[in-house]
Amino acid sequence: MNAYDSDKIALGLDPLGYRLTDSPDKADMIIVNTCAIREKAVQKVFSYLGRVAGLKQIRPDLIIGVGGCVAQQEGDRILKRAPYVDLVFGTHAIGRLPSLLSRLEKKRQQVVDVEMGSRIQEPDGAVIPRGETEVSRFVTIMHGCDNFCTYCVVPYVRGRESSRQPEHILAEIQDLVDNGVREVMLLGQNVNSYGKKEGLPDFTSLLEKINDIKGLDRIRFTTSHPKDLSESLIGAFGRLDKLCRHIHLPVQSGADPILKRMNRNYTSTQYLDKINQLRRVCPDMAITSDIIVGFPGETKRDFDATIALIETVGYDGLFAFKYSDRPNAPATQFSEKVAEHDKDQRLQKVLELQEAITLARNRSLVGQTQEVLVESYRLKPVSGNGGVGAGQWTGRTSTNKIVHMPADEAAQGQAGDIDPGLLIPVLIKKAFAHSLWGLPDGSGARTASGPKGENSHAA
Ligand code: SF4
Repeated sequence: MNAYDSDKIALGLDPLGYRLTDSPDKADMIIVNTCAIREKAVQKVFSYLGRVAGLKQIRPDLIIGVGGCVAQQEGDRILKRAPYVDLVFGTHAIGRLPSLLSRLEKKRQQVVDVEMGSRIQEPDGAVIPRGETEVSRFVTIMHGCDNFCTYCVVPYVRGRESSRQPEHILAEIQDLVDNGVREVMLLGQNVNSYGKKEGLPDFTSLLEKINDIKGLDRIRFTTSHPKDLSESLIGAFGRLDKLCRHIHLPVQSGADPILKRMNRNYTSTQYLDKINQLRRVCPDMAITSDIIVGFPGETKRDFDATIALIETVGYDGLFAFKYSDRPNAPATQFSEKVAEHDKDQRLQKVLELQEAITLARNRSLVGQTQEVLVESYRLKPVSGNGGVGAGQWTGRTSTNKIVHMPADEAAQGQAGDIDPGLLIPVLIKKAFAHSLWGLPDGSGARTASGPKGENSHAA
C-alpha cells in the first residue's frame, strides 16, 4: 500500500515540475513515506532521517517531507525529534500535497497536516509506468479499516474504511493496461468488505467487471479478512479466468482464546472451514497467511494450537512476526506479556516448520507445466567473485510462485522470443524454498496482448 501511495505522491507532484530521481544527492525534495506497523519500521524512519539531515546541511534549500503512517501517528512530534524536517503529512493528506508545498515555499515555515476526513482525496488517474514496461501494478480499491484488531495500528493511522467508486478503479486499470500492464494487485485492508458502507456493488461484482477488461491477463488481491470471506468470492475462484489461484488469508493464531483477545471474530474451526471451501472450488489454490507469535496471554498450549493449524492447512507461505506493543493499539495495555526469548523460540519454530512445508509444496510442482507471466530479466550474480553470469528470466505462476528460467538461446529457442508481459508455459524442473526453476515448454508461448519487442534482453 505504501508503494502505491508513493506512486500517487509522485503523480501529485508531477504538475509542480518535480520528477523522480534515484539519487538523494540530486534531489530538491526528499519524501520519506513511512510505515508504523511494527516498532522496527518506525526506528528505520528516524535513522534514515538522520542520514538525510547531512544533505540538508550541505544544501539548506533541500525540502525534507515525512508522509505515511508514522507521520499520521507522530504528527508534530516528528519536528521535535528531527527539526530539519520541513513537512509532515498524514495518510489522508496526499491529495493536499501541492497546496501544502506552496504554503511551505511561500512562508518557509514547517508545515504539519495530519487531518483525517471520512474519505481520502487523491490525485486522479493511474500512475503510468515509466521507462521499462512494468508487468504488474498495485491498485488501491479502498482505504482504512473498521475492524480494530487489538494489536493493530491501521484504524488509527489510516482511518475508517472507505471504498473508491468502481468507475474510478476500472478507469485506472484500463489506463494501466493501455500502457502495457498485464496484472493488477487490488489493495485494501479488507477487500471483502469493499463497497458495503457506501452501498456499492460488492467485491465479487467488482472482480467480475475487472475480469472483463480486455488486455488484462491476471487479477490478484490482498488482504482478505477470514470473517468476511463470502461464498460468492470463494465461487469466483472457480469462475473468473483472470483471478489468480492464490489467496492471502491471515489467521494470526490457531488458538480460539487468542483469536478472541485479538478481536478477530472467527474461531479456528470457522477459519478451517473457509479453507476447505476454497480447496473444494480450486484444489490447487495456493494459500498464504500471517501469524503473530507471543501475543499477550499466549500459553504454550495456544502456541501448539497455532502449530497444529499451520500443519493442517499446509500453507504455501507465511509471514510470521513476534508481537510488539504499538501506540494506540488496545493490546498494549493487556497483561500477561510473553517473554522475549519465548517469542524468539516460537518464531523460530514457526519459520522452520513453514520452510519445510513450502519446500514440500514447491517440490510437488516438479514435472508439471505451469503458466508463467514473465516479469523481468537479469544477469545472475556469480557467487564468490562479484561477477555476473548467464542471464535469466523471472516470472510468477498463477499461484504466486516465483519461477526463474535460463535465458540462453537453446532454452529460449524452445518457446520463441520471451519478453516481459508474456504468459508462457514452463516445465518446472527444480524446486527450492523460495522459488522454482524451469524451462519454457516447447508447446508454444502465448503472446500477451501487450507491447512486445521492447526491453528485449535475450542473450
Ligand atoms: S483487519 Fe487488518 S488492518 Fe484491520 S485492524 Fe485487523 S489487522 Fe489491522
